Amino acid sequence: MEKKAKFEPAQRLKELPPYVFAEIEAKKKALEAKGVEIINLGRGDPDLPTPPHIVQRLKDALKKPGFNRYPSYVGITEFRRAAARWYKKRFGVSFDPETEVISLIGSKEGVSHAPMAYIDQGDIALFPDPCFPIFYTSILFAKGRPFPMPLSEENAFLPDLGKIPPEVAEGAKLISLNYPNNPTTGVATKDFFREVVRFAKKYHLIVLQDQAYSEISYDNHYVPSIFEVDGAMDVGIEFHSLSKTYNMAGWRIGYAVGNAELVGYLSMVKTNIDVGIFEPIQMAGVEALEGDQSGVDELRRIYQRRRDILVAGLREAGLEFRIPQATFYLWARVPSGHTSASFADHLLEKAGVMVTPGNGFGKSGEGYVRFAFTVPEEDLHEAVRRLAKLQTGE
Ligand SMILES: *Cc1c(COP(=O)(O)O)cnc(C)c1O
Repeated sequence: MEKKAKFEPAQRLKELPPYVFAEIEAKKKALEAKGVEIINLGRGDPDLPTPPHIVQRLKDALKKPGFNRYPSYVGITEFRRAAARWYKKRFGVSFDPETEVISLIGSKEGVSHAPMAYIDQGDIALFPDPCFPIFYTSILFAKGRPFPMPLSEENAFLPDLGKIPPEVAEGAKLISLNYPNNPTTGVATKDFFREVVRFAKKYHLIVLQDQAYSEISYDNHYVPSIFEVDGAMDVGIEFHSLSKTYNMAGWRIGYAVGNAELVGYLSMVKTNIDVGIFEPIQMAGVEALEGDQSGVDELRRIYQRRRDILVAGLREAGLEFRIPQATFYLWARVPSGHTSASFADHLLEKAGVMVTPGNGFGKSGEGYVRFAFTVPEEDLHEAVRRLAKLQTGE
């Protein structure tokens, strides 16, 4: 017997968009129950192990008395220093670990709390469409007014800032970006970041840039930080994650760097919500950022081989897409006559290949599906074999 709901959820929960992935997930479960072997290219969840030296550092940290105590709110000094040093080495930009760096329980935590720190009820917040859903929902939770910036293929999946109506920009307080981009795989140039900084200064906007995929790039493509651009320090905060670079998604550790005021306000929100990351995990994070980096090169090689298998196979199957230069996704146009949802269904039911329908990331994602190559090469070979068969109707 179904239980009748006893409580009304809060308005903010009622305002959440419907979870469009629920239907396809239910179909996948039903097929699996029938014994169909599904190849899941739907989840952007790194499948490779965390490098052993990082795991060892966690074990060592557990031997230190006091590891069980409350950690520091903003993150232990060693971790914030390691993050600042990593940024300096990677992008040539310096941050004060005391005031311009904050540790996060994964970058998702930071991105989700940021609007609460920066916007008031009714403030407009510009966000990319399509996007990692938290960009949108976090604005709703902060009672802001989300205003989508469409990311179109013609504009290389960068928002066209010139198309934002001036009256909207005037009323806006925040602009969120995510480059390299999930789900479109778009990448930002320094010129684009320059344009963003100019725009932000003109309209007094705070720039939030999520850089979770900065180290996952191919063909020697250079991924810049927004802070390589003059003036970014006046307006920006950049979110970084150890999840993708070091295969640490389940560890929940990331950080943000940027303007001291912006870091400080985010820290005020965090201080009132949580008490920081388990210290041994922060020590492992120090090891990740400062220890042997050869695993990162190897990781890029592995993803690049996977990408190449997928690119060749999907071309063979007649799909159209831009070759991803970064992230572990491929964002493909759906064949004519299909919607995102119908094509994802088709691939699941006819080939047992699960992908993510693009409309789940926002209105402008309609007409696309996202393939994640977070599975071994054999699985990708098998997936493209199945898609080729589908194509020839065998
Ligand atoms: C995976 C991902 C992250 C990383 O989130 P964590 O909370 O650090 O694990 C952040 N942003 C985007 C867009 C992602 O796809």
